[in-house]
Amino acid sequence: MRDKIVAGNWKMNNNQFQTKELLNSIKSFEIPNDVRVMVAPAFTQLSQSNEILSNTSITVVAQNINAAVSGAYTGEISADMLKGIEVTTTLIGHSERRAIFRETDSIIKEKVKAALDADMEVIFCFGEQLADRKSNNHFKVVARQLETALFDLPETQWKRIILAYEPVWAIGTGETASPKQAQEMHKYIRNLIIENYNQKIAEDVAILYGGSVKPNNAREIFSGKDVDGGLIGGASLKAADFIEIVSSF
Ligand code: PEP
Repeated sequence: MRDKIVAGNWKMNNNQFQTKELLNSIKSFEIPNDVRVMVAPAFTQLSQSNEILSNTSITVVAQNINAAVSGAYTGEISADMLKGIEVTTTLIGHSERRAIFRETDSIIKEKVKAALDADMEVIFCFGEQLADRKSNNHFKVVARQLETALFDLPETQWKRIILAYEPVWAIGTGETASPKQAQEMHKYIRNLIIENYNQKIAEDVAILYGGSVKPNNAREIFSGKDVDGGLIGGASLKAADFIEIVSSF
């Protein structure tokens, strides 16, 4: 049985005061026992978040890592550094990293390898651009992103992978994939994993949907048989909205 997961990606938002307020507010709500909840604050707020959430089951997640173990990479953070502050899950390949910071599929592949080699858990983000969907290439693009970064991993490492399908045209735009489009792509992804691995791995991996998930559309999106939850941007910055989404299964 795979996990139901809702993860909040805070991006470059929330200083230490706002972090404290938001996390304390999230903590004041009741969280369903069968949903795994995660938050991804900025690097500077990770330790503080771990401390505030220490008596909860909420996982604190990094938004990015560098693939190198250490060295002359000014401004970067390694897996080892994150583990040192008890952060053992990271996003990799978010569309903003791909677009703004020019992370290619091969850079992302290196990051996945580095995180898994360090025994971290990875939320692997991927998804097509609007032009890909309009030209009916969305399945091909998603297959390429998964093949390049993940499909030569040994079977045993899939235990530490969570997939987050995020069509780029739906991120921060207010436009969501329809529940039917989300389910169709998630099923396609699960079938790709069956083809490249086996039924068990495909059934066990959680596939999250991301892209303008809000309290008013979460339930319908999460109702897809292959949709195991969401990666939430904007709506994760308001505790009540985030918790409403967490409670939308
Ligand atoms: C995201 O950044 O991963 C995301 C899904 O953002 P939003 O929910 O704001 O579209």
